Amino acid sequence: MSALPPGSVIGMLGGGQLGRLMALEAARLGYDVHTFCPEPRSPAARVSSAETVADYTNDAALKAFAGACDVVSYEFENVPAAAVAAIESVGVPVRPGVAALENSQDRKVEKEFLNSIEVPTVAFESVHSPENIQPAVEKLGGAGILKRRRMGYDGKGQARVEAGDDMAAAWTALGSAPCILEAMAPFKLEISAIVARGLSGEIAAFEPSENGHANGILRASHVPASIRDETRTRAIASATRLAEALDYVGVIALEFFVLDDETLIANEFAPRVHNSGHWTPEACATGQFEQHIRAVAGLPLGDPTRLFDAQMDNLLGDEAETAFGGPGVTHYGKREAKAGRKMGHVTRRLGPAT
Ligand code: ADP
Ligand code: MG
Repeated sequence: MSALPPGSVIGMLGGGQLGRLMALEAARLGYDVHTFCPEPRSPAARVSSAETVADYTNDAALKAFAGACDVVSYEFENVPAAAVAAIESVGVPVRPGVAALENSQDRKVEKEFLNSIEVPTVAFESVHSPENIQPAVEKLGGAGILKRRRMGYDGKGQARVEAGDDMAAAWTALGSAPCILEAMAPFKLEISAIVARGLSGEIAAFEPSENGHANGILRASHVPASIRDETRTRAIASATRLAEALDYVGVIALEFFVLDDETLIANEFAPRVHNSGHWTPEACATGQFEQHIRAVAGLPLGDPTRLFDAQMDNLLGDEAETAFGGPGVTHYGKREAKAGRKMGHVTRRLGPAT
């Protein structure tokens, strides 16, 4: 398994900020990035060397794109598995592979998979009609979070429900789609463990960050997290087990609820670089975007050691305009600042690592 030589082309399915930040690191390492995204001139495409504008179900476009690439990766988890198959059919590897997509696109499959590798999650019930909701709420102790199985992100596609609520209304509000009902996790804080797995199976783990959410959307991450060292070790061990079980190549993120006694309950995982790792380029010897490119290109992984204490704040909606050009600000170059939309982030170093 040899590394891609300089000038090789890394294909990127998706055109958002994660793809943009990976493309910049790919360029620095000496690679070209070719994006594939349904919207023209995406944030990632505008810093890449080539762009395909087509739908993820366009088989001919996927094959032509693959033919122009040496390896293909993705920057969001809702790429259809069939798109990966189309790319692989022309002999181009997709890293990470399809198992990571299949096990993260559906919240029920995801939770069953995590539990099967002894990474515990909250209790949950499967919901396929509005009549299922009330009995499921009662079974889980009178309250829970109803989540669409597919296509939810940033707190979208989920709603809190309590016994006696109008379940038909909750079902309709979530689009009358298959759901799970999750028990509420009584957490004291949330953390995420982000690890990279290289082409030859080596693991490089970032230190878990502590994450604050508002309305289901990440607002801030900071390191060090206020947890015991032993808890950090357990979180990294679970993320490592997940990467190994998926035969994963690239950066993967596993989110946890931390209970009062520091029991870890996994929430969800993302088969990609993660918003809660946006502090890593400024605070670690190697950042998550470079690390992902290194892994998919078959380069040795970089050193993930944390050098600084740091705080990363997301810039949502018009916050990015106010902060624009300030120290530590990364702007995503999105054209339209809708309320609540992730437009950028700012990372502050708080001093040498403690
Ligand atoms: P998304 O895919 O939108 O990120 P998550 O399932 O991660 O959805 O939910 C977003 C946030 O909502 C979580 O980070 C957490 O703060 C809160 N949340 C989600 N599920 C639960 C739960 N079962 N118990 C308590 N809080 C939850
Ligand atoms: Mg989440």
